[in-house]
Amino acid sequence: MIPDDPITCIPDEFPPERRDAELWIEDGTLVLAVEDTAFRVYKGLLKIHSPVFKDMLALPTSLLPAGVTVGTTVVDGEKCTVVRLPDSAREWRYVLRVLVVGDGRTLKCVLNLSRSGSDLFLMVLLAYIRLGHKYKIEDVYRRSLKALKGVLKPRWSFSARPRLLPSYALCVVNIARLTGEPSLLPYAMLLCSRGVSPAFTGYIVHSDGKKEDLNEEDDTRCIQATRKLVLLTLSAITEVVLPPMTCKEGRKCQKMMDTLARTLLPTVMNPMSPGPMDPMLWSVVRSEEFRLAQKMLCASCWDQLSFFRVRKQREEVWNMLPSLFDISSDEEYKANH
Ligand SMILES: [Zn+2]
Repeated sequence: MIPDDPITCIPDEFPPERRDAELWIEDGTLVLAVEDTAFRVYKGLLKIHSPVFKDMLALPTSLLPAGVTVGTTVVDGEKCTVVRLPDSAREWRYVLRVLVVGDGRTLKCVLNLSRSGSDLFLMVLLAYIRLGHKYKIEDVYRRSLKALKGVLKPRWSFSARPRLLPSYALCVVNIARLTGEPSLLPYAMLLCSRGVSPAFTGYIVHSDGKKEDLNEEDDTRCIQATRKLVLLTLSAITEVVLPPMTCKEGRKCQKMMDTLARTLLPTVMNPMSPGPMDPMLWSVVRSEEFRLAQKMLCASCWDQLSFFRVRKQREEVWNMLPSLFDISSDEEYKANH
């Protein structure tokens, strides 16, 4: 409860240029001050959605979380509660759109679009998860986390590609640590490994200009996994191209497989021109060599190669990722996939 506390902010603290153009409701009872932006919304609404928020509004100043202050001010002649939060205005804008404006449609739309792999909507999804977790906005948090797990699910089809840009994968790793969701880690950490993603910079600059780094411990884990990723790539490719083909059409297909092994393995193993590590065989199946194999092999052998062998290797590598990146709690990971 805020007693009839004194006006703790100067009345002109939120001039029009600080007010969010979209989320400034004229009869709102609460001003959320986040970075340089002020949102004016309804106090009761936030209290319904977030028990953490409800508590904060009732706590004495000395018990508020670090970086949070609660006070009162006068805005356009009306007394308003002011809560300052140490978060990102960009992320609060995403969440307030759902809580204040979107009546569920915004959330549903973002969940659907992020599932389709849209990078922009993935960033919104991560904001839902971060603030949903921090402020216990349960429905938003739970549904967003489920959608993110959907994005990170392995795809076994022959032409599957990574579902995330490496720079977004680092945000996923950080979110996984923040929320204690180890099942999000292995795939995202694979993409954050410089051996797999040579262009990975270790940071991302968000649309509001803020930089986010991959946390140091996981960056180290990714670097330490390099040697194992090299070996995994070699064994995955070898297991796909070396075993003899059992083919009704006699020796023709086996000859093609010999050619495939002869041309592919030296490239992969050449220490002078190491390509990206490709333990999930995302790139190698798009190589010229594979294309030629598709033309030359009989349907049954191509099926054996592209479907059974590639998939088997991908599944094996996938199951090894938690130990590869030293992620101790991998039970949930396996259960989820
Ligand atoms: Zn054949």
